[in-house]
Amino acid sequence: MALRVENVARRFGETTVFEAVSVTIERGEILALIGPSGAGKSTLLRTLGLFERPEAGTVRVDQTDIWAATERERLTKRRSVGMVFQEPNLFGTTVRRNVEYGLRVRRSWRTRFRDLVPVIGNRTPPQPVVNALSLVGMEDAIETPVESLSGGEAQRVAFARAMAYDPTYLLFDEPTSDLDPRNTAVIEDAVITATRGEIGAVVATHDMHQAQRIADRVALLLDGEVVEIGPTEQLFSSP
Ligand code: ADP
Ligand code: ADP
Repeated sequence: MALRVENVARRFGETTVFEAVSVTIERGEILALIGPSGAGKSTLLRTLGLFERPEAGTVRVDQTDIWAATERERLTKRRSVGMVFQEPNLFGTTVRRNVEYGLRVRRSWRTRFRDLVPVIGNRTPPQPVVNALSLVGMEDAIETPVESLSGGEAQRVAFARAMAYDPTYLLFDEPTSDLDPRNTAVIEDAVITATRGEIGAVVATHDMHQAQRIADRVALLLDGEVVEIGPTEQLFSSP
């Protein structure tokens, strides 16, 4: 089971970001994506996140070739790939509403109806919401309005919202570059815990220490090419 791009090309007008990039992310591993600004990290994440169709090559989620699949299959698979950006991008109202939103999108009509009963009654929050918030130590803030959260707390909630979708793969674009060390540590621990639960994670980061702390493997992207990829200790060991 893997998320995979094979010989993927991405172009924006005259700009070619990639000619033929290939990367595989297995479930249960953390891959750090490093490289200078403009190397193509965000573009690669958006391609892995199925937001954009590449001009050439294939994107596979588990066995499904996403852009050759039917619209219906693609939508189903898209739900199994979550993304967390540098900005939390929470919407108005409360922490609970943000995290429940993920849960509702995921559920079938039948289970959704059942789960909505306690939601409408505003009683016990659904267990997946509590679990996702607990992962980032935000379970006590469940009814907190989002405008009263600090930046770090908001990012932790953004992580919980992504987890509530029950993703198979999680993609992070510079998730902690605006955060203090304490909030950074919470996010890093949550990524590690999530992958122990068999999620495959990709973390684009400028922070080499972060890559060393959390990644199983590191990919170095330069000018749209994966110039190095391998186990973290191997990549950071001096020759
Ligand atoms: P990174 O995340 O490593 O900083 P990006 O993927 O954001 O790199 O950008 C890689 C290259 O692709 C840059 O040259 C950038 O200008 C270009 N690029 C990215 N997205 C677009 C877009 N939507 N339109 C035009 N050019 C883009
Ligand atoms: P980063 O990934 O470095 O945080 P962005 O992805 O926002 O930053 O942008 C990276 C580069 O891609 C910038 O130089 C930006 O001008 C360029 N870029 C992003 N989106 C577009 C776009 N829609 N059209 C043209 N250039 C873009």
